[in-house]
Amino acid sequence: MTPLETLIRTRIAVDGPIPVSEYMALALGHPDHGYYMNGSPFGADGDFITSPEISQVFGELIGLWAAVTWQQMGSPEKTVLIECGPGRGTLMTDLLRAAEDVPVFARTIEIHLVETSKTLRNIQAGTLSCINPVWHDSIETVPPGPTILIANEFIDALPIRQVTREHTGWSERCVGLTDDTLQFMPGSAYEDPAGTPIDAITGEVYEFRPAATAFVDELSARLATHPGAALIIDYGYERQSPGDTLQAVRDHQFADPLADPGEADLTAHVDFGALRSHGFNSGCHVFGPVNQAAFLRSLGIVQRMTALSENATPEQIETLYSSIQRLIDPGAMGTLFKAMVISHSGAPTPAGFEYHSTSSYRRND
Ligand code: SAH
Repeated sequence: MTPLETLIRTRIAVDGPIPVSEYMALALGHPDHGYYMNGSPFGADGDFITSPEISQVFGELIGLWAAVTWQQMGSPEKTVLIECGPGRGTLMTDLLRAAEDVPVFARTIEIHLVETSKTLRNIQAGTLSCINPVWHDSIETVPPGPTILIANEFIDALPIRQVTREHTGWSERCVGLTDDTLQFMPGSAYEDPAGTPIDAITGEVYEFRPAATAFVDELSARLATHPGAALIIDYGYERQSPGDTLQAVRDHQFADPLADPGEADLTAHVDFGALRSHGFNSGCHVFGPVNQAAFLRSLGIVQRMTALSENATPEQIETLYSSIQRLIDPGAMGTLFKAMVISHSGAPTPAGFEYHSTSSYRRND
């Protein structure tokens, strides 16, 4: 049994079943035994692989996206560049290298990293030692100024709440003990008829993510007083519908979310519709989501691949092609992953979203 499971069992014995949101928060973020505190989960030797770890081209294109965004913001003298959940610092490294192509932009950058894990902060400090980043627990403490924010696979790691449809209403989905094993079970009644679908059938699970919508609210408050744009890339869907999407991944395989808490990555699909409503309702412009493939193609991923192939060996070309394919293939990360931009009111259409103008969305759709 993992040390964290022992702690969770003690907690359940004292207080009763704990909500899924608390279970997920502990499994990922417990200060000593949470998954992200344990080391580096990324890459071929870890549990999962993310886009920046698949190909340097991903971060480089985001660097060019940032440079164009900076120009659209009126080329401010200082740019507060925030990355939420920077992992190993790979995306930021590739982004900054590409940004050097636009030195007038690169010179304005001040880097702020929002990261919960001390272990990953240390790894980021090593990767990004030459640029003096400042770390934060949340975006609230990042100093004011024109802002560009990047968040790749950050929202999917924020805890979700789940509620289950019972005959008489909704109940909070919890984790408790049955037959000496951790099991999902109904907890106390959950009353929010406005936020939950009325056509759910008994037993269906509905999820929402208070930490993500609170994050968008905080971000929107910042964009109300400073020019800027936030690029959010993650896996998920456009519209909320019932369904349990909590998943565990360990050693590149799906695993039981209740097995070995603290030793598997736990994530759930991102509800882009909820992020969009919160951005709109706070007065921001929201663009997308568009599929990752459409976004990266529009930023020129194919041309970049061709350019890099010119001086490469056949083996390098093979690796390059297969990694780019993974990022844009509909059967891999091309359509499940999506990009969305939230920007200050009146901001022009960002690069990569040319064919997906915000005007096609109504405020409450
Ligand atoms: N963006 C990186 C890493 C994604 S994994 C990449 O694409 O490779 C999720 C990252 O978010 C990790 O760095 C994790 O430690 C961080 N994270 C998770 N929950 C967080 C929270 N509540 N606040 C800040 N960072 C968090």
